[in-house]
Amino acid sequence: MRAGFITVVGRPNVGKSTLVNRLVGQKVAIVTPKPQTTRNRILAIKNTPDAQLVFFDTPGIHKPHYEMDRAMLETAVATLKRVDVVLLLIDIEKPFGRGDEHVLELIKKIESPIVLGINKIDARNKREILPVIENYRHRHDFIDIVPFSALTGDNIDRLETVLVEHLPESEPLYPQETLTDLPERFFIAEMVREKILRLTHQEVPHSTAVVIDKWEETPTLTRIEASILVERESQKAILVGKAGAMIKKVGSAARQDAEKFLNTKIYLGLHVKVRPDWRNNKRTLSELNTETL
Ligand code: GDP
Ligand code: MG
Repeated sequence: MRAGFITVVGRPNVGKSTLVNRLVGQKVAIVTPKPQTTRNRILAIKNTPDAQLVFFDTPGIHKPHYEMDRAMLETAVATLKRVDVVLLLIDIEKPFGRGDEHVLELIKKIESPIVLGINKIDARNKREILPVIENYRHRHDFIDIVPFSALTGDNIDRLETVLVEHLPESEPLYPQETLTDLPERFFIAEMVREKILRLTHQEVPHSTAVVIDKWEETPTLTRIEASILVERESQKAILVGKAGAMIKKVGSAARQDAEKFLNTKIYLGLHVKVRPDWRNNKRTLSELNTETL
């Protein structure tokens, strides 16, 4: 069993998000920022029977800077003790230029092994790949160079194999079922539950679970949709309150906490659902992250 952290770096639009989506699979709603910490953030977790790959995004990476953001790299360098492999992505469609030279200059500071990923090979003739590999091979001592297409999936298996090869032998770092940045969702769900406990004075809470259904980020707002599962209609009536007064109170209080926690503006949509037997329903339980029960 191998497990470890992989930081994905590269200039904007080289395909980092596309790649991580591809590696982790369609179903994963990725990305939850941790603006209140200086740590790198977890993008997504890929579990295979014999490996766990934990991908980090790097701050500043989505900003449309021409050159790889220095702050991003500094964070990467600062967290290298926790990073096992750095995956530097380039875009084969873009001719090699000053920006790329600058990136190569910056990565000299990185002590972790660096894999070079050459993305978007679907957009170029196969003959154009070798000269790009040669160019980079002479400019830096990469532990591996893998051309692939994040869009079509071409050679993605090879990339995954290479990344796993360079991870240390280890038990999984996160529960095997974890696909995304669970802790943040967990905390938001807990905040909602806490408000229910407080505001409904224990009439409802013990048969309540909170499930985060949707988590969407824009630069100015994080939209979170959550379901509150209760077992009976009568509990739903209490939780919703007269003309929705109770659920509004719960939502508003939870949102204020969540905004402090995530340090961003939040839209929090709460939906109360009656699931008579949710505690015994395997499917419902597997849809919940068990920590929120
Ligand atoms: P990021 O800024 O590095 O995260 O890049 P994105 O993943 O957002 O991708 C930027 C653009 O490149 C998008 O329009 C993608 O559809 C496109 N793209 C990503 N991977 C590939 C690929 O393998 N082939 C092609 N042709 N386009 C790709
Ligand atoms: Mg991206």
